[in-house]
Amino acid sequence: MSSLKADVVVIGTGLAGLVATAELAEAGRRVLVLEQEPEASLGGQAFWSFGGLFLVNSPEQRRMRIRDSRELAWQDWLGTAAFDRPEDRWPRAWAEAYVDFAAGEKRSWLHGQGVRFLPNPGWAERGGYDATGHGNSVPRFHVTWGTGPGLLEPFVRRVREAERGGLVRFAFRHRVDELVVSDGAVTGARGAVLAPSGAARGAASSREVIGEFEAAGQCVLVTSGGIGANHELVRRNWPERLGAPPKRMISGVPEHVDGRMIAISEQAGAKVINPDRMWHYVEGIQNWAPIWKHHGIRILPAPSSLWLDATGRRLPVPLFPGFDTLGTLAHIGASGYDYTWFVLTRKIIEREFALSGSEQNPDLTNKSVREVLRTRVRGGVPGPVQAFMDHGADFVVRRDIRSLAAGMNALTGEPLIDVDALEQEIVARDRELANPFSKDLQIMAIRSGRRYLADRVSRIAAPHRLLDPEAGPLIAVRLNILTRKTLGGLHCDLEGRVLDAAGEPVPGLYSAGEAAGFGGGGMHGYRSLEGTFLGGCLFSGRTAGRAVAARVG
Ligand SMILES: Cc1cc2nc3c(=O)[nH]c(=O)nc-3n(C[C@H](O)[C@H](O)[C@H](O)COP(=O)(O)OP(=O)(O)OC[C@H]3O[C@@H](n4cnc5c(N)ncnc54)[C@H](O)[C@@H]3O)c2cc1C
Repeated sequence: MSSLKADVVVIGTGLAGLVATAELAEAGRRVLVLEQEPEASLGGQAFWSFGGLFLVNSPEQRRMRIRDSRELAWQDWLGTAAFDRPEDRWPRAWAEAYVDFAAGEKRSWLHGQGVRFLPNPGWAERGGYDATGHGNSVPRFHVTWGTGPGLLEPFVRRVREAERGGLVRFAFRHRVDELVVSDGAVTGARGAVLAPSGAARGAASSREVIGEFEAAGQCVLVTSGGIGANHELVRRNWPERLGAPPKRMISGVPEHVDGRMIAISEQAGAKVINPDRMWHYVEGIQNWAPIWKHHGIRILPAPSSLWLDATGRRLPVPLFPGFDTLGTLAHIGASGYDYTWFVLTRKIIEREFALSGSEQNPDLTNKSVREVLRTRVRGGVPGPVQAFMDHGADFVVRRDIRSLAAGMNALTGEPLIDVDALEQEIVARDRELANPFSKDLQIMAIRSGRRYLADRVSRIAAPHRLLDPEAGPLIAVRLNILTRKTLGGLHCDLEGRVLDAAGEPVPGLYSAGEAAGFGGGGMHGYRSLEGTFLGGCLFSGRTAGRAVAARVG
């Protein structure tokens, strides 16, 4: 058994763990960072992320003539979170502190560390209800120049510098199986040393055990991520309000997002709250070049695709692409099927299909202005999207409706799409385009969206008939349910101190990031405004890191 010691033990090298470690080291504390994966996976999920961040009243928004404010953002947050439980006290306090951060110091803090953003904030989760309901009133999704890796960069740099200075020590392939509790306080962690692994970043690594370790510190900070790759746990926590758990799901996260550490923390006295609150996407496509098991990619949709259920019926208002993720998930849950369809044209896919993830956006991830101009401004189907059209298991590309319907039925192996009904639906929708006004709320949403300059230029196709041969071919995309984020988690106060069942701090135990529901045990409540997960890791990692540094000082 190897023995390790430091002032603070951090579990997990995702964004939250790295931010906290950077803050701890800056305060002069000695940190031991335990990580089950090999060094190649440093950065965890954030490396794979799109790097979209929720910012409020930013210079990027102002340049695009978006009028945003802390008050509007908080109104949107409350309508989206819909906090309604007694245990929402700390999550709500975290949410308010986070909105203040997003409207205040967040951008300058990141900017000061070299992080930059694209000039055109995206409009995610538009809601479609009234002013106090779910959704972003304005575009707030700021994509980091360099995507996820670009956001990780300064924190990796700071932590590596501290490692060279002797303050930080990484122990990769150290999997925590138990927290050490002495006299009621958490004083360390025990676990298995796993065999060295040459697994590439994100790929599954072996679980062969070659030894044991025990690590001791004055405080332990759990930043171990959520549960998204553990489909069994996702199904167990699936709430009734979303219908029956899907039989088939794909994974939007690598396998290390296994949720084990949450139960291990519970065994040490921690209380988990809101485990039924999760954020899974409804526009998942199977990755034709998978890196991890069941690897799925999320389409970040804009509003023009026609959204049909498995039987070819249009989804109800306001379940348009990019409007209400969990509202759509609940509708699918009640449908008896676990997939839906987008029907669109080449003209729509060129403009409107963005794929979430750093590796799906090489132009942004590699910070290549030339490639961005070539692929996003000049037009044409972006390379990564074309690759899915050519190789993806969920794509049907045809010249006419009859063969499109036949292709859809062949893909699922179920004759659920009736070609005449499909044609009627599309022709009816196309008729609504004859005037500059319409009763069809989706057409109205497309036209309203195009009044936002950035979307008109690069994100929303000019309204056109789906059956216009000039806009074709026709494309149908089967959309799968893609697991991603855990909104509930370890109950924490505003310092990140983990609370027990009585609401009292478990001495020595802290948490941040997705393991802590991005703050407090669920600062999102039921739903998210997007870009708030990376931001939640930044804020809760920084807050807990500073609080622990003060505690062990
Ligand atoms: C493809 C993709 C796109 C995304 N895009 C966005 C976006 O644009 N905007 C946004 O806000 N969010 C986005 N997200 C979500 C965001 O990236 C994650 O929520 C966030 O990075 C989670 O960070 P974390 O540090 O909490 O956990 P993780 O990144 O999951 O890191 C946790 C680490 O802990 C380790 N660990 C777990 N258990 C143990 C144990 N027992 N012992 C030792 N080590 C352990 C894991 O191996 C892992 O390395 C995206 C995620 C993905 C996958």
